[in-house]
Amino acid sequence: MQIRWIYKIFPVLIRYLQGYKKEGKYAGTTNLFYVRIDQDYINDPGILEHEVHHGKQFWTLFLLMIPIVAFIDIISFIYLTSYSIGIFNIGYSIIEVSWILLLAHSLFYLLFQKYRLASEVDCYKVQLWNPPAFTNNNLVEQDRYRWSYAQFIATRYNIDISKDDAYQRLLGDPP
Ligand SMILES: [Zn+2]
Repeated sequence: MQIRWIYKIFPVLIRYLQGYKKEGKYAGTTNLFYVRIDQDYINDPGILEHEVHHGKQFWTLFLLMIPIVAFIDIISFIYLTSYSIGIFNIGYSIIEVSWILLLAHSLFYLLFQKYRLASEVDCYKVQLWNPPAFTNNNLVEQDRYRWSYAQFIATRYNIDISKDDAYQRLLGDPP
């Protein structure tokens, strides 16, 4: 198990596993801040950085949601705790379920195609600027990888986008 730290204090846990990659599937995945990568890719910094960036996206949304959840809870506490439907107190029920917004990145990723696209584009851009896509400043080779990552985005994530459009989004600087 390796650990990388986001904003110095938030962990991303990384495990390399034997035979993790299934035919035509991803070599690595990230759930919340837990990264799993196929052992065969241990010398592929691009995949590692791609997955760690997903961990960073999780923690960034987590941090953004803290004040929003606090705001929802305070408003619910002040204005809604005096109302009930059956055994459910409206204010307290909202306070209890509001924590789920802390998992916003994972929820949005699962639910919204546009968010999933934005998330993957950023991670593939990070991957593009690490080896093996980017080695010895070889931009021709990097562009070859850009096309294959565009192909992945257009085919592997249930996102309605063409390979050409995905390629266009992969141009420009990494986040
Ligand atoms: Zn990804």
